[in-house]
Amino acid sequence: MIYFIGAGPGDPDLITVKGARIIAGADVIIYAGSLVNPAVLAGCKRGAEIYDSAGMNLEEVLEVMFRAWREGKTVARVHTGDPSIYGAVQEQMDALAREGIPFELVPGVSSVFAAAAAIPRELTLPGVTQTVIMTRLEGRTPVPEGERLKELARHRSTMCIFLSINQIERVAAELIEGGYAPGTAAVVVEKASWPDQRVIRGTIESMAELVREAGITRQALILVGDVFVKDYQRSKLYHRDFTHGFRGRAE
Ligand code: SAH
Repeated sequence: MIYFIGAGPGDPDLITVKGARIIAGADVIIYAGSLVNPAVLAGCKRGAEIYDSAGMNLEEVLEVMFRAWREGKTVARVHTGDPSIYGAVQEQMDALAREGIPFELVPGVSSVFAAAAAIPRELTLPGVTQTVIMTRLEGRTPVPEGERLKELARHRSTMCIFLSINQIERVAAELIEGGYAPGTAAVVVEKASWPDQRVIRGTIESMAELVREAGITRQALILVGDVFVKDYQRSKLYHRDFTHGFRGRAE
């Protein structure tokens, strides 16, 4: 069996119980060494084969999986955060499916949620926004027409921008061009949940300079939106005048 596991954002306590249990029993572990905290592998079996996929291409990763499968071994393929977002996991799952090899995906805590916890702030506030857009600027991977930041900006929802810290000037320009006020709150979280995590607060307009001064160049998320400063309405869910299926009116 091959397990794709979300390792969480960094803090080794933020892997799921299920993910940790599978790692503890795995014969072969392939992890993305550039982002996954090796501490999440601390509980692995003695004698487990460990590969860092940072120096491997897709075919090499698949070859390790195929061989392990033929030998009846269990593989833990460990991805950063949650594998289902910017994880390059689909091509691996499809290759296994083509070979008839069974696999399972175990979710993880995405860095976006670790970043929200670091601030700490709820990303959906009543009366402010009920929508979170997760996106990126195009890099070597293109972004479809219609998903350009300046088009997504039109909604003025909470926006979480991955893989783009090196182009933060362009991020800011597109967001403003698309409809956010230049003074809209922006927060950059570097290495969310790691011991050296940093949180930089500013506005869309001021963010690029703050990030440059701080020397942040990688492993950082850009979060923008009114949720980070604005007043909001109380949640209806916990409001005493609001009844719902689980908490009826005492009559
Ligand atoms: N699947 C991962 C994202 C992988 S793409 C997840 O769910 O988190 C890599 C990008 O994720 C980085 O460029 C950065 O924008 C973000 N990232 C990953 N780990 C991070 C962390 N600990 N803190 C802040 N951003 C992080």
